[in-house]
Amino acid sequence: MKVIRSADELKAQIKREALFPVGFVPTMGALHEGHLSLVRIAAKECSLVVVSIYVNPAQFNNKDDLKNYPRSLEADLSMLGKVLAKNDIVFTPDDKEIYPVEDKRVFNFGNLGNVMEGLYRQGHFNGVAQVVSRLFEIAEPDLAYFGLKDLQQVAIIKEMVRQKGYKVRIVAAPIIRENDGLAMSSRNRLLTQELRNKAPVIYNTLSVAASMIQNCDIPEIKNYVVRTIEKTGGLSVEYFEIVDDKYLHPVNAKSEMKKRKSYFGCIAVWAGKIRLIDNIELQLV
Ligand code: AMP
Repeated sequence: MKVIRSADELKAQIKREALFPVGFVPTMGALHEGHLSLVRIAAKECSLVVVSIYVNPAQFNNKDDLKNYPRSLEADLSMLGKVLAKNDIVFTPDDKEIYPVEDKRVFNFGNLGNVMEGLYRQGHFNGVAQVVSRLFEIAEPDLAYFGLKDLQQVAIIKEMVRQKGYKVRIVAAPIIRENDGLAMSSRNRLLTQELRNKAPVIYNTLSVAASMIQNCDIPEIKNYVVRTIEKTGGLSVEYFEIVDDKYLHPVNAKSEMKKRKSYFGCIAVWAGKIRLIDNIELQLV
C-alpha cells in the first residue's frame, strides 16, 4: 500500500491508477476490527481502495474529546498493511490539506440532524459533512463505506450525497462487537478497566429491549433500558430512542409502529468521561 499525505498527490495517484471502481473508507484512525471490516468489504468489491486517517477537529463539539482522542498511526498502518493490496492507498492528511481555507459551509439535514447525536452534539454533523464532502471531492470514489455503529451518520451522509449530487454509492456495514457484545470503538481504549468491565451491559440491555418490543410499550422499554444500565454504576444514559430506519423519526408509542418494518433502538451512554454509542434493530412481528 502507498501512504500519501497530500490531497493533490492523492488525486494524481488515483488518476494514474485508472481503476474502477474506487472504494473509499474514511476513518479517524485508532483502528480496530470494526474499521478493518469496512476495509475488507471495500477490498472485495473495489479495484482500488483508499482509506483515510484524519482526526477531524470540525466534528468535535468537546475540546477534551479532541485532545484525548486516541492516535496510533504506526499501529494503524501496520494493520492496514495486512488487509490492503500493493496499489491501495492510505491517505493521512494534516489540517492544511483538508481545510486549506476555513470551511464555513453550513449544512441543513432537517430532522435527521436535529435528533439524537445532532441534538446532543451541536455542530457534530456539520463537521462530519464538511470533512466527508471534502474527502469525496478529493478522492471522487465510486463507493464509500460506513459502519452502522454510527447509524445516524450513515443517514446524514446519504442525505449529503443527495443534496450535493455526488456520484458515490454509500455502503453501510454491520456493527462489529467485542466477544462480550460491546460495540468496537476507538474510544473503548480510553475506558478504565472497571468501566470496560461494565460497558457490555449496554448491548445486553439493547438486546433485551429488542425482544421486549413484542409485548411492552415504548415508555416501559425506555424505562427498563435506562434503569438497567444506570444501576450498573458509573454509566449514565444520555438518550435512548426508538427511531424509524429512514428518517430517524423517534417513535413514542408502539401504536405508531408498522409490523415487519425496521426500527432502531439507539443509545448514547456516558461511561465516566467517555461517551459510547450503540444501536440495535427492532421489528414488530
Ligand atoms: P471513526 O474512525 O470512528 O470515524 O469510524 C470510521 C468508520 O468506521 C465509520 O464509518 C464508523 O461507523 C465505522 N466503525 C467504527 N466502529 C465500528 C464498528 N464497531 N463496527 C462497524 N463499523 C464501525
